[in-house]
Amino acid sequence: MPELPEVETITRQLRSFVSGKKIDSITVLRPSVLPKETPSTFSARLRGRRIRKVGRRGKYLIFCLDGYKLIVHLRMTGKFLSYHTRPRENAHLRILFGFNDGSWLAYHDQRALGTLFTVQDKEVVSELDKLGVEPFSPSFTPNFLYQMTRQSRQPLKEFLLNQNRVVGLGNIYASEVLYDCGMHPERGAESLSRDEVKRLTASIKGILRQAVEANGTSLSNYRDLLDQTGNFQTSLKVYGREGERCERCGTEIKRIKQKGRSSYFCPQCQR
Ligand SMILES: [Zn+2]
Repeated sequence: MPELPEVETITRQLRSFVSGKKIDSITVLRPSVLPKETPSTFSARLRGRRIRKVGRRGKYLIFCLDGYKLIVHLRMTGKFLSYHTRPRENAHLRILFGFNDGSWLAYHDQRALGTLFTVQDKEVVSELDKLGVEPFSPSFTPNFLYQMTRQSRQPLKEFLLNQNRVVGLGNIYASEVLYDCGMHPERGAESLSRDEVKRLTASIKGILRQAVEANGTSLSNYRDLLDQTGNFQTSLKVYGREGERCERCGTEIKRIKQKGRSSYFCPQCQR
C-alpha cells in the first residue's frame, strides 16, 4: 500500500502534470471506486472545471478545482498514469480523465479498493479532519510525540500506524523507523523516555525524507505517474528481510505478526 513517500511522489508529479488543465471528459469504467456518489454526479461536479492545485494530506491526494475538491485514497493497488494520447482501455483501468490540452490521466486499480470522491470547496471532510499531524510540519516535534505516547497503551508499531497522531507511516516505514532508532516493535509506547522519543521523532523524519528522495518503495505494484518504480526498496534494512542478517550486528532478522500484519526487526539491535 502506498505510504507517505509514495503518495508525496505522486502528488508532486500530478502537480506538474495536471495543474492548470481543464477536465474535458470523464469516463467511469468501475463505479465501485466511487463509494459516495453516482458516476453522473461525480462527472457533473468535475467536468469543465480547471485543476488549480494538487496537495496531499496523510495518504490522501487532494485535487483542488474551482468550487470542488477531488479526494483520492489509493489503498492497496490504486495508481495514476499520465498519457499524451488517449490510452487503450484495459482490465484495470477504472476512471479516465481527458484534459483540454489533449492529455489524459488514468486511474488504474487492480483490486479496485481505492476510493475517489468529491466535496464542495468549504465542506468539512471527516476522513481528513481526524488525521494527525504531518511528519514534515513544524507541529511534529519530540514534545508533541512525547505527549501522544503518554496517552497510549499500544505497542510502538501499532502506535505508529495509527493515522490519528502522526500520518503517513504504514507497515513498511514503521518497521524501518523502529530499526533506525533501535526500538522493539512490541515495546509499549508509554515506556519511552523523552530522549527516546526524540530519537524516534528524528527517525520518522529521516526515513520518510530519504524515501521521498528515492521516489518511494516499489515492492509489488507501486508505480509512479510515469509507470516507473521507486528506489527505496534497495535501502530497506528489515522490511521483507526475514531470515537475512542484520547489517549492523549480523543477527537474523525476525518477523512477527501484530494485529495480523507483519513486523520485521532485529532482536539484537531493537530493544
Ligand atoms: Zn542488528
